[in-house]
Amino acid sequence: MARIGVVGSVNLDMIATAPRLPKPGETVTDATFAIHPGGKGANQALAARRLGAEVSLIARVGTDSNSGPALELLRRDGVDLDRAYRDREHPTGVALIVVDEAGENQITVAPGANRHLEPADLDLSGFDAVVAQLEVPIDTVMTAATTAAESLFVLNAAPVRTLPADLIGACDVIIVNEGEHAALADVLTGADAIVVTTLGPRGARAQRGSEEIGHASAPTVNAIDTVGAGDAFTAALTVALCEGREISDALAWACGAGALTATRRGAQPALPTRTELDDFMANL
Ligand code: ADP
Repeated sequence: MARIGVVGSVNLDMIATAPRLPKPGETVTDATFAIHPGGKGANQALAARRLGAEVSLIARVGTDSNSGPALELLRRDGVDLDRAYRDREHPTGVALIVVDEAGENQITVAPGANRHLEPADLDLSGFDAVVAQLEVPIDTVMTAATTAAESLFVLNAAPVRTLPADLIGACDVIIVNEGEHAALADVLTGADAIVVTTLGPRGARAQRGSEEIGHASAPTVNAIDTVGAGDAFTAALTVALCEGREISDALAWACGAGALTATRRGAQPALPTRTELDDFMANL
């Protein structure tokens, strides 16, 4: 069983589905409301757990009442939360999301405790792989990359921001979508890491320098909500690489995980189990 440490964010997503998005200063009524657990760290930890890995989440939440629902599905599925620290001074991260009838959205994130995940919080021994994203401080991600030198270090460079050369140099695998790839193209071309670019319904490719070393097409599905697809992809690719699969095989399995997630609503409830993913792949 792969042992994976995920260093990243935990948010509670508060979602109003409204007839239209409000303009500045405007109030729109007749919305419906839902609360969902989220945050890229939490999503990827749960995704890897459902795919059969032993997973620890290294994160910070507040002592407020949002922390319980934010961690509920992780706890239920057996993600180790001993290192999901309670921050007494800062609240659990919250994302305020408005979605209109066409699926267009507006999102405001109050990162709260996620901004205070510190290098000193990182206890990363004993993992086959460590995965991080960019919703926690870059110094913490940098420390994770260097202290996890014995493990495979996977960076999902999202949401996109400038990446220090030292961080790129410490990564084994960097996962980006097409937009992130375009924004980081200059620095990624010179990276020693395997750079994996997800291409939405067109699948994913892996490159080392300018050489393509793997490619997979995405299964054709009836995609109804792609939220969480990138997180499922990152988790599945990491699990597959920990299990020693070849890159193209790992990409295909990860594309299957992304595609299956896109067929279901929401992020965490949509993440497939290993049995679901293996059955799906066997029936393509
Ligand atoms: P992100 O959601 O992070 O922007 P992508 O849109 O590239 O990333 O999606 C991540 C992965 O999820 C893709 O590589 C693909 O495997 C899968 N995926 C996403 N959208 C679809 C779709 N419409 N059909 C099939 N697979 C999809």
